[in-house]
Amino acid sequence: MLQAYFTAPSQTMIVNGEGCEHKLSRQQDCDTERYKRADRYKGKQQAVKMVMTVLFMTILLGVGSPVGNDAVSAQSSAFHMNAADEEQGRRTVAVVIDDFGNGMDGTKEMLKLPIQITAAIMPFMPTTKQDAEEAHRLGHDVIVHMPMEPNKGLKKWLGPGALTTDLSDEEVRKRVEDAINDVPYAIGMNNHMGSKVTSDERMMRIVLGVCKERGLFFLDSRTSYKTVVPKIAAELQVPIVSNDVFLDDVYTVQHISKQIRVLQKYLESHISCITIGHVGPPGKKTASVLQQSIPVMQTNVQFVKLTALIRGGSMNDPLVLPNS
Ligand SMILES: [Zn+2]
Repeated sequence: MLQAYFTAPSQTMIVNGEGCEHKLSRQQDCDTERYKRADRYKGKQQAVKMVMTVLFMTILLGVGSPVGNDAVSAQSSAFHMNAADEEQGRRTVAVVIDDFGNGMDGTKEMLKLPIQITAAIMPFMPTTKQDAEEAHRLGHDVIVHMPMEPNKGLKKWLGPGALTTDLSDEEVRKRVEDAINDVPYAIGMNNHMGSKVTSDERMMRIVLGVCKERGLFFLDSRTSYKTVVPKIAAELQVPIVSNDVFLDDVYTVQHISKQIRVLQKYLESHISCITIGHVGPPGKKTASVLQQSIPVMQTNVQFVKLTALIRGGSMNDPLVLPNS
């Protein structure tokens, strides 16, 4: 079960995306807080180092003491903490690929990328189980890509088992539970479309309530600037992360390459970034741009699965925002 941490209300800029109308605002404050916490963490590490040094000197003065080995192992663990601290300073990127489950273009290419990704798989589709099993076998994270009603667009675009705001509480709960049951190995959930549902408190209280019961985290794709996900997740204590950059809302190699540059730029002022791409119409193009960009980017960033961001954040400080 993942340890819980909570992100602050959604504040970063989403670079395009369905229902997106905003650029924000309080990211500066949010980052400032995050770096302050990182400083406090480093301060604690330095204090631990000092205590260890004093302890080691004391042991040296009393050679043969039975606690000698403990002191050495304590020093060794202090070293590991410093190494982990350095590692923490490295920028991380989590690539999430949406819309698996329907045998769409780019499915094979995405799963074979030379990094671990997070595969967001739609429930009740022809290749739902096959894609989930293959993604899991290859070491990727699997999450449920839950279809949710958008402000604009037709309900029939959503696919089977979708959440719409006209459903009763009981029906919403049942659909969320059925979707989780339909996607093997799912450890989290994100929204497919959903600008209407993610801004609806009643709906998200049920969705996030089920996530909590089932031990799933929630990735807010942030298709709406009015999202209530951070608020309700904090209330219910459900771990959440959120999208920072959409890679392929325009289906051209030129645009996708531009979004990779946006992502790199974003990392100049953020310690981590979550980016969402898609199988389907842009799938092969997105996979090919990623394939080419990954080796170049790996010189200064580390690609991780979403779970790594969640665990990384909560391990060091339950309040650290791995992404906000
Ligand atoms: Zn989708």
